[in-house]
Amino acid sequence: MAGAAVSSEEVLAVLRTVNDPDLNRDIVSLGFVKDLQVDGEKVSFKVELTTPACPVKDQLQAECEQKVNSLDGVESVEVEMTAQVRGARQMEQGAVLPGVKNVVAVASGKGGVGKSTTAVNLALALKRAGATVGVLDADVYGPSMQMMLGIEDRTPNFTENKRLVPWQAHGLSVMTIALLQDPDKPVIWRGPMVHGLLQQFLRDVEWGELDYLIIDLPPGTGDAQLSISQQASISGAVIVTTPQDVSLLDARKGLQTFRQLKVPVLGIVENMSYFVCGHCNERTEIFRHGGGRKTSEELEVSFLGEIPLDPQVVLGGDEGVPILARDPDSPVAKAYVEFAGKVAAQVSIAAEENAPSHPPIMPGKIDWK
Ligand code: ADP
Repeated sequence: MAGAAVSSEEVLAVLRTVNDPDLNRDIVSLGFVKDLQVDGEKVSFKVELTTPACPVKDQLQAECEQKVNSLDGVESVEVEMTAQVRGARQMEQGAVLPGVKNVVAVASGKGGVGKSTTAVNLALALKRAGATVGVLDADVYGPSMQMMLGIEDRTPNFTENKRLVPWQAHGLSVMTIALLQDPDKPVIWRGPMVHGLLQQFLRDVEWGELDYLIIDLPPGTGDAQLSISQQASISGAVIVTTPQDVSLLDARKGLQTFRQLKVPVLGIVENMSYFVCGHCNERTEIFRHGGGRKTSEELEVSFLGEIPLDPQVVLGGDEGVPILARDPDSPVAKAYVEFAGKVAAQVSIAAEENAPSHPPIMPGKIDWK
């Protein structure tokens, strides 16, 4: 039976019952619903998420469609999912990287846990979701981004006002000291030099507009961490760990350091968490896996996921085509995508927490006396 035509208010009322599970609020009050049009029995609108890498994008779309469809007087519903990344950096006037909405530092307590591999695949996963992404290799003692991203042409490019243009690889803007120094002449970096170099990376590179700048920090808790934290107004840090006890202990130290530096910790990811046999698909827990999750629970930070140990990851890194570009449908690439979704969600939560919840209330008349 054809009833009365549906109204915009009725559509909005039902959309108020759709909650973003990460931000813990309904999508109407979050300002996600845009361009609502009711044309007879046809309803269309956009849902503008805070990140294209939103892990619950499909779930939210299905819920919107189903709930609006169930209203009387609705024949068809068209929901377009879009995204506008929100910034979670607390920037003061004159801050570095003014066009960069979010800076995410990837850190680890010690070397060799797969921090750089995680950083590069995180960047690629965000890029594939539709975000604009840059990678800054701040691991000045052991830069690896040039090799991992397969950048061969070392020729630097500059803007008219002598700012260095980042290299482009796999759709990412990339900056690494490896491209500026003679590969046969290793440089010994001292603390103040590291500080100066990182400052140049942040101030004198034409990063332009980015949704996310991923910074690969050196392992441990030294000058570079301090320097970047002081200079870059970081949205948050991701701590990479492996399941071994000693690595977890180091991860704890890293986490405490960021807390002291007042850098929000987005969470912990456990790399080389388990091994899945390429022949029989059997899962083997090489180390006692699950420590990353346990540590994140103990330290009350989010657990961002488990990345399996997969020889394809090593090949990808060595050949300059990371696994996310090489084989995006492989289980390990999917684990990176899931992890990137969780990181993006944590950044969105931080942005929401930083956003002024109420517009400033101006008095009607200012009394000077
Ligand atoms: P870090 O930056 O912590 O020193 P890297 O990212 O350079 O570590 O990784 C160290 C080695 O481990 C590299 O050879 C890399 O290819 C390998 N690796 C990293 N993550 C994985 C993984 N999930 N599966 C298999 N090998 C990995």
